[in-house]
Amino acid sequence: MKHYYRIEHKNEPRYVVAEDSSWRLLQGNPFGDHAAGEAIASDNVRLLSPVEPSKIVAVGRNYRDHAAELNNPVPVEPLIFLKPSTAVIGPGDLIVIPPDAGRVDHEAEVGVVIGARAWRVREEDAHRHVFGITCVNDVTARDLQKKDVQFTRAKGFDSFAPIGPCIATGLDYRLASGLTVEGWVNGVRRQASSTRELIFSIDRLIAFISAVMTLLPGDVIATGTPAGVGPLVAGDRVTIKVEGVGELTNTVAQAIAGRR
Ligand code: ZN
Repeated sequence: MKHYYRIEHKNEPRYVVAEDSSWRLLQGNPFGDHAAGEAIASDNVRLLSPVEPSKIVAVGRNYRDHAAELNNPVPVEPLIFLKPSTAVIGPGDLIVIPPDAGRVDHEAEVGVVIGARAWRVREEDAHRHVFGITCVNDVTARDLQKKDVQFTRAKGFDSFAPIGPCIATGLDYRLASGLTVEGWVNGVRRQASSTRELIFSIDRLIAFISAVMTLLPGDVIATGTPAGVGPLVAGDRVTIKVEGVGELTNTVAQAIAGRR
């Protein structure tokens, strides 16, 4: 198992591969030819979002308990929506609640990072298109989501897609095994589940989504959130944990109307 981080190194974004406790700068791109190069210290490093996706494809109501808490029916096929690439932030960056947004919730999710272009992929071949797993917080303006019906505004604000801290390769994400996913706010666990509980498996999602749109290397699928979503307020520290990946922590701030 390897962990790929993207960091700021000498004012440039660089990939790092971590195996055991050694960090090495990556020569090349993790989605293409690459090799581990010079060793660097892993402390005092500024982490960036581990990917810059062309798109984030997110999945609604993919855990029965979450569909129930929002009084929504369980879908008969995956319910997908897009989050824009401009919503992405990295570990430690601020989640900014826009003025007049109403209630804004955390959503702890397992993120799948695509490694190889996928178009009309069969479910049994889907795993070949997966590079690795990351943590995603699908931050959602809940009142706007209900008001708009369409999800674009509620899910699309800048900073509403924290991703990180790294991409873990070699994890067994299949339903039979299951990876745990948790959401924490100010040190209290609010969400806890496992990919074992997914209504639509990760491979099924890749097949379904790639029948609609081409998935490109670096694209992220946010696979849905379990029960326990709840509102965030300025000053909160929200952490998403995915087994085998690590912890993604962001602090929440409130934007003030009229100010940029
Ligand atoms: Zn979500």
